[in-house]
Formats: sequence, structure tokens, C-alpha cells
Amino acid sequence: MSNQPFIWTNVLSHLKSDHPLGTVMYFSPAVLQATAHRFIDGFDGLVTYAVKANPAPVVLENLIAAGISAFDVASPAEMRALRAVAPQAVLHYNNPVRSPDEIAVAVELGVSSYSVDSMRELEKLIKLVPARGTEIAVRLCLPVDGAVYDFGEKFGAGPERATALLKEVAAAGFEPAITFHPGTQCADPSAWVQYIGTCADIAGAAGVRIARLNVGGGFASNRGEAPDLEAIFNAIRTTVEARFGVDRPALVCEPGRAMVAEAFTLATRVKAIRENGDVFLNDGIYGAFSEALWVGCVDRLHVYTEDSVKIVGDREPRVIYGPTCDSMDRLPDPMPLPVDIEEGHYVLFEGMGAYSTATATTFNGYGQSEFVTVQDLAL
Ligand SMILES: *Cc1c(COP(=O)(O)O)cnc(C)c1O
Repeated sequence: MSNQPFIWTNVLSHLKSDHPLGTVMYFSPAVLQATAHRFIDGFDGLVTYAVKANPAPVVLENLIAAGISAFDVASPAEMRALRAVAPQAVLHYNNPVRSPDEIAVAVELGVSSYSVDSMRELEKLIKLVPARGTEIAVRLCLPVDGAVYDFGEKFGAGPERATALLKEVAAAGFEPAITFHPGTQCADPSAWVQYIGTCADIAGAAGVRIARLNVGGGFASNRGEAPDLEAIFNAIRTTVEARFGVDRPALVCEPGRAMVAEAFTLATRVKAIRENGDVFLNDGIYGAFSEALWVGCVDRLHVYTEDSVKIVGDREPRVIYGPTCDSMDRLPDPMPLPVDIEEGHYVLFEGMGAYSTATATTFNGYGQSEFVTVQDLAL
């Protein structure tokens, strides 16, 4: 028996025939695999996927089918999820803070690369992880602009500490590497240029030839403007060539958001409209929109009637509330909705695959979407 899901032609064919009452995440394996190929073809190194952005088994399986063989995992649960669908997958454990029992699971499951940003965490790894053939990447952080959300506050060592760590990694017999994450939803190549330059300085100052440089995730997804990923790939390649010369390390990237965002479209439904025009949807910040508060909303939205007729015409900014009884459950900015929007209409948000189902809660009984597989996400 096949356990392949039924595949609908497109979003509207399902919407028309099913009239879903709850929220639906439409998933296109073809879009996901095309994005994977865009990274594999364009990026001059190993493309890994940051599992946390969307750990759904169908996502992992389709990435593997597209040729992604290595994954950035942050916890034992993510490692096990990967091993369940791909026993041979290469695992990079790039959550730089770990308990000893988590490290033990990583060793048992054959993690081949770790990142580190402090001496105490490095000491744990030296004690618990066999050095031979294992990579440790020192995680650098710099005050760099370009991303909407900076990870540097929580993780990463400044250049001086990174240099000391790199020396220690090499002295302990691990494969020395450097890694950074420019911050998520970053569309500006200069963030990578700046980081790569400092990585070359650090390797030079430490007197360590790094085998690999991991340029992180952070690649922007389409939020009203399609990101120019190839411009970032080119900037990475030319900067590495210019700054490292003959000591050029192999490259790794670990996109989460940009890999998976476009493969999903979320269908929500209008529950109610207030007299003042405020719109209540059946999903909100405790569901698929949990990152809207810090990263902003996906603004590529379309409205359809219950019979799947597209509402075109004038739009006006409307306050959008989610379905829970918490007054916090409101999208951060008013969104442009058609003036003719009514109760029962569907509001479809494109590019919703990243940090949506992965972070959704079931607060107040909302937040869980049905997954529907479609060939095509065009609306
Ligand atoms: C979250 C994370 C990523 C993915 O970041 P995106 O902005 O989704 O591309 C990559 N690497 C590490 C270490 C992460 O923590």
C-alpha cells in the first residue's frame, strides 16, 4: 500500500471542492525541490537545511529527494527525526549550547560537525566527543546590519574570543572551521562580505588553516520583494576567493527560511468582521503567525469568496486579529485587505513555510493546520 498523499492540482481545486472550515497549509513538493536545486546549483559548496524552520517529515523527504544530504540540527529530537527518514544523512549540530546528555545522543547518532562559541562549551566537547574526523566550527558574531532579527545577542563569540577558540579547537585535534549566522531574513550581501572578511582575519590571527567555512542561514524569503539569492551566492564566492586566496576553505550554507518558505501557502478563513472593519481570522500569532511580532507579516495575500472567486479591487488597511481570547493575538500591522471582504471569505498567505507550523501552539484550541499537497501553488 502506498502512503503517498493525494495530490491536488492546485490550491483552488481543493478550496472549491472541500470548503475547509479550519486552516490549511498547502504544500508543493515541486516548489520545495526547485528551491533546493536553486541553492545546490547556485551556492559554491555544501547546501545543508536548518531543520528548525520546518521539520515536517514531508519537507525532509522532499529535500533528500532533491539531493540535500546534510542537515543542521539543534536537538536530539531533530537528530532522531532526521535519522527516521534518512539514516545516512550528515548531521551538523550547530546549536552552540548543549547539555552533556544531549552531546551523548549526538555522539551516538554520528553527528560529524559541532559549533561552539565559548570555552566552557568547547571543554565539554573535548571531554565527550572523539576528536578524530569530527569538525568543530567556532561561531563568530559581529554587529552587522542587514537582517531583521539578530541572533548575535544570544550566540557567537567576538573576533578575539573566536581566535582563541579556533586555536584550542585545532590543538585538541578537531577539524577546525568557522561559522556565523548573519541574522534571519537578511537580503543584503554585504552582511556576508563583512563576516567572511573577519573570518579570514581570525584564521590568520590564530595561525590555523580552516578546512571549512559555514556561512550560515539567514537568506531572505520573499516578503513583497523576491530576494536575489544569486547575488548573495556571488558575493560569498568572490569574497572567499579574495580574502582566503590559496587557503580557500570549502563552503557550507544552512538555509532554513529561504529553503522552505515558498513551498507553503496558508489558507485562513474570516470568522467575523467588526462594525469598525477589524477582521478576525481563524489563525493568528499563537498559530502560523507566531514570528510576525519580530519578523513582520508575510504580506503577499489574496482573498477568495467561499466559492473561490478572487476578490479584486480596492484594498484598505485593516486590523487583523487571531482567533484566541488573548488580546495580544493581533498581527502587528494593519494589512491591505479588499474593501469588499466578508465573513466566510478565505485569506491566503503565500510564502508561509518557515517558522509557521514549526512554532504554532494549540492555545485555545486553534493553531493546527491541515496539510494538503498540491502540484502547484499559483493563485
Ligand atoms: C536558525 C538557524 C539557521 C537557519 O536560519 P534561517 O534564517 O532560517 O535561514 C541556520 N543555522 C543556525 C545555526 C540556526 O540557528
